[in-house]
Amino acid sequence: MSMERLWIDFLNSDWHDWRGSGKSADRLDQPDYVLAFARDQGYGQLAYPLPEELADLKSLRELLRRQALRMADGKKPEEGIMKELNQVLEKAAYTRKLEENGEGGWQVVSVPVQSGWKHIKADIAASFAETIRNGEESRIRICTNPDCLWVFTDFTRSRTKRYCDDKCCGNLMKVRRFRARRKEESES
Ligand SMILES: [Zn+2]
Repeated sequence: MSMERLWIDFLNSDWHDWRGSGKSADRLDQPDYVLAFARDQGYGQLAYPLPEELADLKSLRELLRRQALRMADGKKPEEGIMKELNQVLEKAAYTRKLEENGEGGWQVVSVPVQSGWKHIKADIAASFAETIRNGEESRIRICTNPDCLWVFTDFTRSRTKRYCDDKCCGNLMKVRRFRARRKEESES
């Protein structure tokens, strides 16, 4: 699994072609993508979300995107958004269960009250809450290639990472700047 948090991977389901073809795709509408997402994040084999579950997931994504934009701008989380997020978190209820730990002893495990997409949605909100708790909000970036807009965490010490990937978007933008400069020079 990537180093990114669950909520960031989730945001990036809204895909834009970084190469600038203008193509984009809401991958939450693609069953193959959605089921692989659940599997890769450790939720096992789920059915594709029901229409109201899908609408719920998309509204959460919209909420988190608005917040990520603020973070990338160095702004604090917006109160209204936090309120809505807390409502999602409230639904992330767990019960506890005592079970044998396989070594002759016992352990208490947390069992989510809800299953499936409702549970995943709450986990996504919880992973966002963790980013804030860890003080990582100042590391949230949105790729500065305007065609890309990929959300990522800047783990560099200098906190100056501007592109989701220096080899892809970074190079592309370098080439674009170079061409623009050459055009300017030839026109002057
Ligand atoms: Zn990018």
